[in-house]
Amino acid sequence: MIDCHTHTAVSPDGYDCVSASYQKACSLGLKAIAVTEHCEANRPEGPEQYTTAHTNEEHYFHNRDIFKKSMLENTEVMKHTLSGTEFVNGIELGQATQNPEFANEVAADERLDFIIGSVHEPAGRDDYAFLDYKNEDITKILDDYFDEILSLCSWGKFDILGHLTYPLRYICGEAGISVNLKQFEEKILMIFSELAKKDKGLEINTSGLRQKYGKSFPDFECVRLFRECGGKIISIGSDAHKTADIGSGIRDGCRLAKEAGFDKIYYFKKHIPHGISL
Ligand SMILES: [Zn+2]
Ligand SMILES: [Zn+2]
Repeated sequence: MIDCHTHTAVSPDGYDCVSASYQKACSLGLKAIAVTEHCEANRPEGPEQYTTAHTNEEHYFHNRDIFKKSMLENTEVMKHTLSGTEFVNGIELGQATQNPEFANEVAADERLDFIIGSVHEPAGRDDYAFLDYKNEDITKILDDYFDEILSLCSWGKFDILGHLTYPLRYICGEAGISVNLKQFEEKILMIFSELAKKDKGLEINTSGLRQKYGKSFPDFECVRLFRECGGKIISIGSDAHKTADIGSGIRDGCRLAKEAGFDKIYYFKKHIPHGISL
């Protein structure tokens, strides 16, 4: 088992320290753990640098500092790792295409083993977590989301696409609005073809299994579609924000990957995929 998506207190919304995460991974007997703190590319500096109105105070600024701190803490813990559990120095890079200059700088950092490419917020707006879906055009929100994911795939400087369908955590899970992904299938197929063509991976993010949504991001149908599009690389992560959640849902995620036609899951060292048989 591996867990390739975890946060600690270095992320503004996380808890516990990096060494505690590594110890937890060892105690669970994980083959690899990736610590992947948030780095929102669209806000490297402090709030005074931005004119866009952000209505929620949970918005993370100073992402350049978070990145620096994460690299220091992760490389420190890496000096004391044990054989049997690999430590993967990762980052969850958000909204890369909203600030490619900073995103390129992060992606080029040679200390990194692994980059998750994520989209948490539409350009100039709050995180999908904070939108009021009763007053939103859901089809447009999702259309724009998949467009942004597609441009993220064209940019391509990541190893794994993180939690595809993330807005459904809030639209379906929290607001209780049902969504049929069939209407976005053409875009999803384009995303998967682009990923497969570039030998990039898709993440099975198991956080949804312990939340109201009740499914992984993305769900089984999407993972199967990725396989049909020629996708080879699948990674898996709990998206734990505290050590207690490390490894959560990973077994279910592995089962899902296998049923979707994959025989390996991958973790990364220096951006090279290492496969583990399912
Ligand atoms: Zn995320
Ligand atoms: Zn995350």
